[in-house]
Amino acid sequence: MELLSIKKLDLAGQKVFIRCDFNVPMDEFGNISDDRRIRSAVATINYCLDADCAVILASHLGRPKGEVLQKYSLAPVARRLQQLLKRDVILANDVVGEDAMQKSNNLEKHQVLLLENLRFEKGETANDPELAKKLASMADFYINDAFGVSHRAHSSVEGITHYFDNEHKAAGFLLEREINFFGKLINNPVRPFAAIVGGSKVSGKLEALVNLLPKVDKVFIGGGMAFTFLKQMGYNIGASLVEDDLLDEAQSIMDEAKKLGVKFYLPVDVVAAEKFSEDAVSKIVTAQEIPDSWMGLDIGPATVRLYREGLNDVQTVLWNGPMGVYEMEKFARGSSKIAHFVADSYATTVVGGGDTADLVQRIGVDDEMSFISTGGGASLELLEGKVLPGVRPLMIEKVKEEN
Ligand code: AMP
Repeated sequence: MELLSIKKLDLAGQKVFIRCDFNVPMDEFGNISDDRRIRSAVATINYCLDADCAVILASHLGRPKGEVLQKYSLAPVARRLQQLLKRDVILANDVVGEDAMQKSNNLEKHQVLLLENLRFEKGETANDPELAKKLASMADFYINDAFGVSHRAHSSVEGITHYFDNEHKAAGFLLEREINFFGKLINNPVRPFAAIVGGSKVSGKLEALVNLLPKVDKVFIGGGMAFTFLKQMGYNIGASLVEDDLLDEAQSIMDEAKKLGVKFYLPVDVVAAEKFSEDAVSKIVTAQEIPDSWMGLDIGPATVRLYREGLNDVQTVLWNGPMGVYEMEKFARGSSKIAHFVADSYATTVVGGGDTADLVQRIGVDDEMSFISTGGGASLELLEGKVLPGVRPLMIEKVKEEN
């Protein structure tokens, strides 16, 4: 199977709808704190503009859950895009309402229109065919360049593809790059292959962990999700983050790892704090001795040493999810130490997920990584060997090259 390529489309002078992933982090003042995702989309947008197209862009931002909320408006994204593209970006007031329809109808070649946040429409995450049809009606061609949401069957990602035949839809350059990279990684990783998995939610990463186990040689767990495993092992985890309904599943993951011979590493010590705050009193304790009502907010120094030892001979590293609450300086040390170690290694290093990408950038080691993926969930699902719902409609049987 191969991806439908934007380069094979006859785009000249046409109207093109590009699904982008402009779901960028913002600070408390509404400033974009990391514009990597916007910069990553520029190649595809410029390619279309160079082909004399009129370009309609669409993205989600945050989780407004079907409500029109000003704080989730794409206005700051439009401003940043304008700087990057060095041309005007027209922002529609809605997604498929009167304003968006009128502006898309009147759009001329070389003009760029950005629709408002797709998730202002309830139908987007429900993959509503009516919404998909309205979005599709705006353009002659559909391009998916939103790797970060391609594991979701949403209207602008999956539903919309049904309204375009294979000559009128394709993957953008960003999506193509991600799919090709992970394709190679999964088929032929140089071993030992390690996954470092952190972050706060076990629930979000459990299935990925189960499916990754047969593919990797070692797993290193960090972040809030470690405590569900530690609790299952009978440790007192105090007030640390835990998902009690997943204790059994945590056990079966550890059992499965044992069965498969995968080395499964858990923190042996943590930085524990009295409360979830930068100015909290904190101390380093072993994983067995977290005081009642204290919470583990970072991996400790012994864990850092242990993980470094374990990572020493590894040739491929996939990292998804921080080792602690890296947004607070006090609890960023574990993530920072691991980031430097991974960055300095000669292994192929792959970072997936908005938080982890943000983390390596803050620490200043982003240039040292082999590949930073724009999608966390999507990259994990790809590594599990799944075909993503937003990518499947853009795949065709490989055409055999004639000699
Ligand atoms: P996720 O979205 O699951 O990748 O989680 C990322 C978030 O996990 C970051 O915002 C971190 O602050 C948070 N996090 C990492 N370690 C911990 C911890 N020990 N307790 C609570 N939250 C954590």
